[in-house]
Amino acid sequence: MKRTVGSSRRTRYKNRLIQLLDMVDRPLSHHEIIDYTVQWKHGISTVVLSNILSKDEAFEIFGKVKSAKTVGSSDCWDVNTYILSPIGVELAASLPTATPCKGCNQTIIFTNEKRPCSACYIKKKEEERNNA
Ligand SMILES: [Zn+2]
Repeated sequence: MKRTVGSSRRTRYKNRLIQLLDMVDRPLSHHEIIDYTVQWKHGISTVVLSNILSKDEAFEIFGKVKSAKTVGSSDCWDVNTYILSPIGVELAASLPTATPCKGCNQTIIFTNEKRPCSACYIKKKEEERNNA
């Protein structure tokens, strides 16, 4: 595969998406994935996300759900849900296992060092300072 400009950031996003889908272990819609990715530094644009999900061989479409925001309204439409393809499952095995932060149970830690997320870290430091 040819390397293109911005491919390293794209690879980082792709790896995180693989880790995320591996962690939740159920199909996720575009919208649900965006909910997870807002916590990422610099986030990920919906265009880039769509592009990766639809074109990368690590992901495949599982099925369809009604778009979450508009259930019952006239502009309710079907959105795809995604799972890891066999290639994605294989890649997931070579990546660190993602886990929610033990402090807040919200922020997902994508590295092997299971430290608290930066928000929890700052909070802990402040508490230490207040107790000193
Ligand atoms: Zn946390």
